[in-house]
Amino acid sequence: MLQLSHICKSYTTNAFTQVALDDVSLSFRDNEFVSILGPSGSGKTTMLNVIGGLDHFDGGDLLIDGISTREFRDRDWDAYRNNRIGFVFQSYNLIPHQTILANVELALTLSGVSAMERRDRAYQALVDVGLGEHVDKRPSQLSGGQMQRVAIARALINDPEILLADEPTGALDSHTSVQVMDLLREVASDRLVIMVTHNPDLAREYSTRIVELADGRICSDTNPFVPSPADMRTAKPAVRTSMGFLTALALSFNNLMTKKGRTLMTAFAGSIGIIGIAAILSLANGVNAYIQEVEEDTLSVYPLQIMSSGFDLTSMLVDTQTDQGEADDGQAVLGLEPFVGLGVLQFGGDVGHGGYLLLWWE
Ligand code: ADP
Ligand code: MG
Repeated sequence: MLQLSHICKSYTTNAFTQVALDDVSLSFRDNEFVSILGPSGSGKTTMLNVIGGLDHFDGGDLLIDGISTREFRDRDWDAYRNNRIGFVFQSYNLIPHQTILANVELALTLSGVSAMERRDRAYQALVDVGLGEHVDKRPSQLSGGQMQRVAIARALINDPEILLADEPTGALDSHTSVQVMDLLREVASDRLVIMVTHNPDLAREYSTRIVELADGRICSDTNPFVPSPADMRTAKPAVRTSMGFLTALALSFNNLMTKKGRTLMTAFAGSIGIIGIAAILSLANGVNAYIQEVEEDTLSVYPLQIMSSGFDLTSMLVDTQTDQGEADDGQAVLGLEPFVGLGVLQFGGDVGHGGYLLLWWE
């Protein structure tokens, strides 16, 4: 059982706040055909989206079998949408490049059903809505009414307890609308169907209850329902949504194959990037090698000389110091003990390929 309790929902764009649902309280029976009527902008779609978990409410509560959804996490909403709700949209929302069989099958991929069973069930669902001989056609090869029947088959494939339809006949002529409405009435025989429409004639003829909305508030209800404690069923255990790894892989591959040109172009663009990086790296390598070669050539013009007899640096220092009149003994001034040693001076250290000058003094 589904219960809206003081639901509020508003949309804020820039500084403007639009109240879409204003304190809506409504309960639905497990088995009825409810039509929601109201002028455009009265909050019908918003209400349907809140019921279906496609949109979250700001205030109030949505009770499913008496259980609050205020603490629901994304995972819980996914399970709720996947297992208990079927959606039918005004614009069908079918995938144009897949056959209608594949379209219906797709709705089962999150339920962990084997590929064979998926195909059989999808085929049966299409036969049930009278499209048995069209299963291999693409949506564009069907009429509007047929596309909407595909959408209904897709919505019913998981055998949901609740079917939500947002203006399902909005884009159809009156003759085709009747076919779709007949189908919806049949569907409503054993489940809850909530349909948004702005055709009061269809609503009156087909549904068992009409709720009218205006400015986000309920202004009339032909068959109100106040649930008694006996109506509260025990909650069904939630079935988790899951998709097998192979199914996910097959879906991605199918998707790539439907857009061969784009896939090729993307691969080409990607390889340009990789080739570009490789080109820059090899250029940098070449320049480095060239610089090294030039360095080596340049240094070999000035060969290093190692002489057997050195000269005494300290004598120069002593001269300088004596000129300044500070002291006589250069070694003492420098703080150097007289020693015999070999000094190694590296030059060109930064370039990394410098030579070594050996100094010898006594
Ligand atoms: P209906 O389906 O009855 O025509 P909606 O439920 O789509 O009405 O919209 C109710 C109000 O909320 C409208 O005034 C609409 O402009 C506003 N609204 C709906 N969706 C959005 C949105 N995503 N962002 C901003 N405003 C929105
Ligand atoms: Mg709408």
